[in-house]
Amino acid sequence: MLGAMQDFDLRVMHLLDHAEREHGDREIISYWADGSETRSSWGEVARDARRLAKALTAMGLRKTDRVATLAMNHSRHLVSWYGAIGMGGVIHTVNPRLFEDQLEYIMNHAEDKVLLYDAMFQPIIDKMKDKWTTIEHYICYDPPAGSDVQGFEALLDTQDDDFAWVTGDERDPCMLCYTSGTTGNPKGVLYEHRSTVIHAIAEIQPAVFDLSPASVALPVVPMFHAAAWGLPFASAVAGVKIVYSAVNDPAVLTMLMNREKVTHSAGVPTVWLAMFQHMDATGEQPQHLQVVTIGGSAAPRAMCERIMKMGCRVNHAWGMTETSPIGTMGAPAPGWDELSLDEQLDVVTKQGKVPFGVELRVVDDDDNVQPRDGQSSGRLQIRGPWVVKRYFKAEEHSLTEDGWFDTGDVAVIHPDNVMQITDRSKDVIKSGGEWISSVELENAAVGMEGVAEAAAIGLPHPKWDERPLLIVVPNEGATLEPDAVKGYLSDKIAKWWMPDDVVFVDELPHTATGKILKTALREQFKDHVLS
Ligand code: ADP
Repeated sequence: MLGAMQDFDLRVMHLLDHAEREHGDREIISYWADGSETRSSWGEVARDARRLAKALTAMGLRKTDRVATLAMNHSRHLVSWYGAIGMGGVIHTVNPRLFEDQLEYIMNHAEDKVLLYDAMFQPIIDKMKDKWTTIEHYICYDPPAGSDVQGFEALLDTQDDDFAWVTGDERDPCMLCYTSGTTGNPKGVLYEHRSTVIHAIAEIQPAVFDLSPASVALPVVPMFHAAAWGLPFASAVAGVKIVYSAVNDPAVLTMLMNREKVTHSAGVPTVWLAMFQHMDATGEQPQHLQVVTIGGSAAPRAMCERIMKMGCRVNHAWGMTETSPIGTMGAPAPGWDELSLDEQLDVVTKQGKVPFGVELRVVDDDDNVQPRDGQSSGRLQIRGPWVVKRYFKAEEHSLTEDGWFDTGDVAVIHPDNVMQITDRSKDVIKSGGEWISSVELENAAVGMEGVAEAAAIGLPHPKWDERPLLIVVPNEGATLEPDAVKGYLSDKIAKWWMPDDVVFVDELPHTATGKILKTALREQFKDHVLS
């Protein structure tokens, strides 16, 4: 016997229908690369998504065809997500900061049919066009006046909005995101309608992003990075007003935050470093922010502290493209108000708890599940309805025999079920048979005045196998000495974790998603002799 409730498939277009019907007037603001601004709304996004879906259908696109974007954050990009999905297609957001050979590989592998792009990326298009073998249509979001490229608004103008969303199975695909491929070729993660809807509902919860119709969000996280952490979908569920900026200039972000009374923001740690520099230089400060989500890399304690002293809640998100991407959120814990600032920081500098839906475990090298004792570290594994099973076009699934996805992260789980990442398995420094966490070393170092950024890597050592080298970017104008850095670290880390050497550089290499590129650093310093 089945239950006797109504049929309601978990398809993404229900999210937009809901936002249009219940929150149609909630605004979507876009600050464009040329400094101009447009104001749209969930109602207008829904209307334009229908016109785009109709235009794509008229171009000959069919169910599951891939529609790629190479674009920053703005309302037309949002329209494209829903328009492509609404015509039954798969939206494929491409990171414009990838290397040329990655761009070539990804788009040919995805077999994209259409590419929607920002004019600022025209040079990439011109360079890559001959290498992309499947793209039939190029559409520019903001074509310069007088250019002969197909413009987005002009395309929409060819259609009315009389279009019914393509229906189908809730397990149909809707979105394709590639991992950045720091090892080997990038891998595609094919989200489905069902996984996306469940993830979006999970995300708005108080213990996760804490979104409601009263929220005004400025997601700094780009729409091309891990589905913008799912915010374009979650915001439709909650009826959030969105403020998009196609430029990441802290002055613009601060202006928008204050003028539009932004309550929620989200971005990788480097975004907040840039914001701090702007705040220090101008004395300006976001006035209405309530919740600041930091993720993509570990949120340093000093960063969390500064944001909390601004009167904001810090959310510390851990996840990956393979997990849609939210896996855990470091957020207020029981008895929060009774905790001192230091104790609160102890909570949010860890990666936090899972929302309902996903489960975590930590296993050792022999695949034994480790106790949740805050001590036993090992490989972090995850399972749940929004976690990848098989990469796009892969023959085999990517799970353990008993159905878990191995994240490649090393973690501990504490007795209160809070998860703490200690490293990427590729980045841990193995010294004398023990592991040194590069993440913890880096976090400790960036707490020192005058340190802008830091990276720790393991270098070969005859006796210990590997020993840590700390590579530091000083703040502008700061002069630092290795011994001073070591002195600062001495009461913050175990003695045997102390870097053998500290070197200073002007900048660190980053991946296309803003993470420190450890592979490049290991190559750069491979001949460095530890003192
Ligand atoms: P990429 O940016 O390389 O495309 P992802 O965004 O999927 O890929 O990166 C996922 C990885 O980023 C995680 O496996 C983890 O190593 C790291 N990461 C993400 N969030 C955090 C966090 N809050 N703390 C520490 N590491 C994190």
